[in-house]
Amino acid sequence: MSSRVTDDAERVPANGLPLLPDSPTAFMDATWDDVAPYYEALAAAEITPGREREWLTVWSELDAMLGEAGSLAMIAYTANTGDEAAEAAHLRFAMEIYPKVDEQQVRLARKLLALGYTEPGLETTLKKFRTDDAIFREENVPRFAKLEELEAGYDKVVGSLSVEWDGERKTIPQLQPFMQSRDREERERAFRLSAQAYLDKRDELEDIFDRQYALRQEVAQAAGFPDYMRFAFAAKYRFDYSPEDCRHFHDAVEKAVVPVAARQHEYRRQRLGVTTLRPWDLAVNPDTDARLRPFEDTPGFLAPAERIFNRVDSELGGQFRTLEAERLLDLESRPGKAPGGYCTTLQWRGRPFIYMNAVGVHDDVSTLVHEAGHAFHAFLAHPHPYVWQRSSGHEAAELASMSMELLAGRYLARPEGYYSAIDAANAQVEHLEDVLYALPHIACVDAFQHWIYTSGKGGDRDARDAAWLEIRRRFEPSVDWTGLELERVARWLRQSHIFTSPFYYIEYGLAQLGALQVWRDSLRDHPAAVARYKQALALGGTVPLPEMYRTAGVKLVFDAPTMAELVALVEERIETLRSMLRSGEVAAVA
Ligand SMILES: [Zn+2]
Repeated sequence: MSSRVTDDAERVPANGLPLLPDSPTAFMDATWDDVAPYYEALAAAEITPGREREWLTVWSELDAMLGEAGSLAMIAYTANTGDEAAEAAHLRFAMEIYPKVDEQQVRLARKLLALGYTEPGLETTLKKFRTDDAIFREENVPRFAKLEELEAGYDKVVGSLSVEWDGERKTIPQLQPFMQSRDREERERAFRLSAQAYLDKRDELEDIFDRQYALRQEVAQAAGFPDYMRFAFAAKYRFDYSPEDCRHFHDAVEKAVVPVAARQHEYRRQRLGVTTLRPWDLAVNPDTDARLRPFEDTPGFLAPAERIFNRVDSELGGQFRTLEAERLLDLESRPGKAPGGYCTTLQWRGRPFIYMNAVGVHDDVSTLVHEAGHAFHAFLAHPHPYVWQRSSGHEAAELASMSMELLAGRYLARPEGYYSAIDAANAQVEHLEDVLYALPHIACVDAFQHWIYTSGKGGDRDARDAAWLEIRRRFEPSVDWTGLELERVARWLRQSHIFTSPFYYIEYGLAQLGALQVWRDSLRDHPAAVARYKQALALGGTVPLPEMYRTAGVKLVFDAPTMAELVALVEERIETLRSMLRSGEVAAVA
């Protein structure tokens, strides 16, 4: 198979452009040596005026084919982690092919920029290419490879954590149900065990981070930035907001959201009948003993989902049916499947794929709805001619998914959805309460990373842990952590983004606040809000972020007054639902 790929690349047609294989399957077993000739041919091709589009189309198709081959390899591996050939193929793409493709991208981008070519809808792509070109340094390539290894090292340490629970080995995620237990002692035991598992590996994890910190600062310096934070803002194409804006975001959360979260904590403390709210009291539902059981099997999972999306919008409902008909869903938990959930895009055929580990709990519904939001984004943006125009940054991507969680939230009750009116109301309260707790956590994780890379002390582990504790107290003042300083330190060791996707976190906050605006608008005029949402998603990556948000009818929020308005709406909704539940007036909720 791989030799055929090379033969194709050597069959260069008269126009000097490489002849691509018929489908991404040709690349499934490819090594870099099989792929390189295509890029060589693109780099060598002479592009006379008027032929830029032809050249860009072949380059885009090649990227889409390799992207799809890599996605298929990841899907095959995560669906069966015991399959060694699948694992090797996945690793070949992740560790060998993609880093090399990234280098070739910069090379071809330079060629394109030198032509001075542009066309409508390509401006944002060109801006990203100019940034890639400006920050690329040959000497950083081995540093990125080393960082890649350290990130894999973190995943390995964390993936191997397990604890003894009633005579059985359990992973940390397997303790989660006990954190929701009505039995406070059980919750405390689960909390302490999972924190201790991280603390047992504290030195190892802090060692990994020390090396990541040093390498990241070196990367930034080599690329001409004062610190890794400034480098990350450029590398993540944050053209439309600055570190200063993020600091305003932190202040605004402290002012507008922390007091509202504290009121929820107080409500929770009273309902649970405890003297102070401890960290193991945060995941249990304070309103009900009932465990939500949304479905028994995969058909029971799919049918309500299809009805819900149909109610949100018939075109989106149709897209969900396409996922089912074309077998682009792998939903149920099975032995050998990798944990977690994701939505990936098969770029060449223009289809998303949703993967998750459903076991019949409410989280599965939330995950499916969230990932479906990403899938609808992929469907709607696919018509753009070039692959780079179809994908957007995380701020836009998470707006798609988080808005869908809120838009679908009102249809969770039967006849469309999974639940009785009472269960649906409880599920909605839980979701909205989570939104209030998530914003301070997001601000905290972001503020901590600002401190790490700009204070000059981020490489000192004692200073680092102390800074985390101080920032944590700022954003979570209403939880009693007395005597649990170490366990509180363990909380940042558990936050994988800080290790493996630095600075990827504020996006969730911006998107959540955008999603709350989509939801607010949908409560007034559902069809109009959904129409704007779809228009925004269809833009893909062709417009700057503020314009994407504007199209959805929302804005990027960094200020306290707007945040206060949005969280007031959430708090009000929670109170309405709770009082309806108490008074038995639940029929109106559905
Ligand atoms: Zn997401």
